Amino acid sequence: MKITGLETIVIQLPGRASYTWRSLQVPIGHYVILKVTTDEGIVGLGEAPAILSWGGEHGRYFGEDPGIVCYLIREYFTPRLLGADPFAIRALFPRMDADIRGYPYTKAMIESALLDIQGQSLGVPVHQLLGGALRDKIPLCHSVGIAPPDDAAKEAAQVVEDGIGWLQIKVPSEPAEDLAIVKAIRRAVGDEIRIFPDLNRGYKAVKTAVNSIKAMQQEAGIMAVEQPVEGIEAMAAVCRAVDIPVIVDEGCWTPQDAIEIVKRGSADVLSIYYTKSGGLIRSMEIGTIGRAAGLQVNVNGSLEGGVGNAANLHLSAALEGDVLPGVITVNTLAGREQTKVGGVFYTDDVITEPFAYHDGCLQVPQGPGLGIELDPKKIEKYRVD
Ligand SMILES: [Mg+2]
Repeated sequence: MKITGLETIVIQLPGRASYTWRSLQVPIGHYVILKVTTDEGIVGLGEAPAILSWGGEHGRYFGEDPGIVCYLIREYFTPRLLGADPFAIRALFPRMDADIRGYPYTKAMIESALLDIQGQSLGVPVHQLLGGALRDKIPLCHSVGIAPPDDAAKEAAQVVEDGIGWLQIKVPSEPAEDLAIVKAIRRAVGDEIRIFPDLNRGYKAVKTAVNSIKAMQQEAGIMAVEQPVEGIEAMAAVCRAVDIPVIVDEGCWTPQDAIEIVKRGSADVLSIYYTKSGGLIRSMEIGTIGRAAGLQVNVNGSLEGGVGNAANLHLSAALEGDVLPGVITVNTLAGREQTKVGGVFYTDDVITEPFAYHDGCLQVPQGPGLGIELDPKKIEKYRVD
């Protein structure tokens, strides 16, 4: 089989409500869909939820947005991939990495499309290509965006009503405000719901972080904390000083990052995205490092649309070890809502069938490849470029 074309489609999904995190500077849902065509008529799909203000610690890893993704596909990746065998991922990607440094979101989008093609060609779901599924439903965590305490608490209560039992709380990294938000949420949802703040690197000093985390643990029962500070040494210092799990997100992009994190003891949980590492195969490598080191993992992302979330679900299904609930969107089609607020960041999507939601979990797609199809009418409606 040979690759015969790459087509990018830029979409803007309609938001359910305003949503933000500490360092986010653009609206979510402005993402790129890739269609890779082949001489056998099979079309593979990928999504790059590329956000220009998103990156790693201390300026490591950065710089993708829809315009850049499309430019790279047109100018660099299309000439390299035309005529290539979509089954040759392991041979193609090191060559692309040598020619075009970085841009993991663009590469992850390409890899997703190639795995989709492989799965369709073989008649197996993508998780089968990753070694097989260990679970057929994925428990979800909902991300509450930065909001005043009362608004955040109201949203949290609605999410719990929808059946989701884990909440990631985006907070502004001002200790008094952070505490007020998590306390309001704890009051609204009761003691059983698992809540943890995501600081997105926000605390400037380790001591501020440690004091704030301890206060939130004592007064609001937070069960973990995500990326409280920036840098592997600072994260390790926080890790040593608190007794709840510390999740690393901005600090963990590549398998090499994961090895460093393990060596320095700078996290207890690795947040894995199919995008940060440049694809599902390297994401699986990070999962293996985590499992081997006795760390937990979770699958998160950038609040993907349906195409990206198919990748998230296949990855979540195939990862070994202790996989905690991750922030994965409940992709919603207008008129076919499965939850009111829980997991819903967009009011519509570009896939034809939503992933089935039940009891705080999404079902892993079982069809060949990613197991999804694009809805041409929705593409027309939400296409911006
Ligand atoms: Mg995060």
